[in-house]
Amino acid sequence: MGYIEPAPIKDKENPFESMMSRFNIAADALGLDEEVYNVLKSPAKQVTVSLPITMDDGSIKVFEGHRVVHSNILGPSKGGVRYDMDVTIDEVKALAAWMTWKCAVVDIPYGGAKGGIKCDPRSMSAGEIERLTRAFTAQMAEIFGPDRDIPAPDMGTGPREMAWLMDEYSKIQGMTVNAVVTGKPLVLGGSLGRTEATGRGVMVSALSAMGKVGLIPSQATCAIQGFGNVGSWAAKLLTERGVKVIAVSDLSGAYVNKNGLDIDECIEYRNMNNGTLEGYKNADHIPGDDILYLDVDVLVPAAKEDVITVQNVEKVKAKLIVEGANGPTSAKADAIINEKGIMVAPDILANAGGVTVSYFEWVQNRLGYKWTAERVNRRSDRIMKDAFDRVYKTSKEYNVPLRIAAYILAIDKVAKTYKYRGGF
Ligand code: NAD
Repeated sequence: MGYIEPAPIKDKENPFESMMSRFNIAADALGLDEEVYNVLKSPAKQVTVSLPITMDDGSIKVFEGHRVVHSNILGPSKGGVRYDMDVTIDEVKALAAWMTWKCAVVDIPYGGAKGGIKCDPRSMSAGEIERLTRAFTAQMAEIFGPDRDIPAPDMGTGPREMAWLMDEYSKIQGMTVNAVVTGKPLVLGGSLGRTEATGRGVMVSALSAMGKVGLIPSQATCAIQGFGNVGSWAAKLLTERGVKVIAVSDLSGAYVNKNGLDIDECIEYRNMNNGTLEGYKNADHIPGDDILYLDVDVLVPAAKEDVITVQNVEKVKAKLIVEGANGPTSAKADAIINEKGIMVAPDILANAGGVTVSYFEWVQNRLGYKWTAERVNRRSDRIMKDAFDRVYKTSKEYNVPLRIAAYILAIDKVAKTYKYRGGF
């Protein structure tokens, strides 16, 4: 037998296991009851549906859709619906649990859920996506509801799909129910401030964390991976607060200017250039992944999951990582980051600005009232700042990193609610 190349050490983790490994550490630190542990480790409800759709060429194609409600003990469950070929029930389960912890960390009265349809929206026409969205909504009409389970956009979906979902649900109910979904277009009851909400929360978390590690915004440098919704808003708002953003990246690579990038110009360039920074001139162009290894004070991964792993974590030089993306750091890399003394503002805290303003959207819909952008921003900034302070205090109390502290806070809140409500 010839030489067999050893398999590379892969750090791409099963998302459910990755979530559970953090959950387990926090549950141990908290001394969580075994009974409550057993309740929380599995989702409350998971539904898989089959969706036969007439395609534009007249053929019928069958899609598979999932909705997982991890917990609704704190209130109606909340979580996005993802359209992607990589959707699996395991991933949806992990993301649903993540939403439970995220809502609990920022102390909004929601449980956690997630949905997904295995499909490639880029290869489908608007009509096909509309029929798929309406079929999914009809099949999930018993699960969804403004007091039961409230979907939102996620990867591959946006305001357009949320409008179809709201319309289909409203037809089934025989009345307009805009509070059944968030992330809607403004005219249908969407909230001002929602577009920038996640990036804004990243900015608030970054400034709070900088204060704790002794970084002064006007003297700090920052690199941001991903220049989509979250990354570009975080870049813009951090720049406005004096932070020098010296690098941003997208799928076309990373763009570095040691004197600080002109973020408004980058955004304008991207908007005029099919959504990409490709060809942007007022910066040096380096390979995309190298943005993670720049000598900056603050690193904001705001692109995708599992970008900081055991394979590359040693090369990270930042003093502070603020997780704009969901799951950008693999669970196995956590230990090395902690050894290196890097502070991490974790995803379930740092990117919770989006779900916070989604909550405001639901509140406004239920009140039949519209808030100004100023009111939305002021209230979400307060929620994000308070959440950071609570997580920081918990990290000192338990002598654990911020990520585990965030899980401790969240699990403790959910566990206490179970204890009070009882009824098993
Ligand atoms: P988006 O699609 O608007 O932008 C993603 C950006 O990342 C794009 O610029 C893309 O080119 C870039 N990108 C993708 N792969 C990359 C790579 N390998 N290297 C460098 N850049 C890469 O998405 P978004 O809404 O900004 O979401 C980004 C992350 O934030 C995701 O993990 C998402 O789950 C998370 N998140 C988003 C929100 C929200 O409100 N949009 C809320 C919470 C969490």
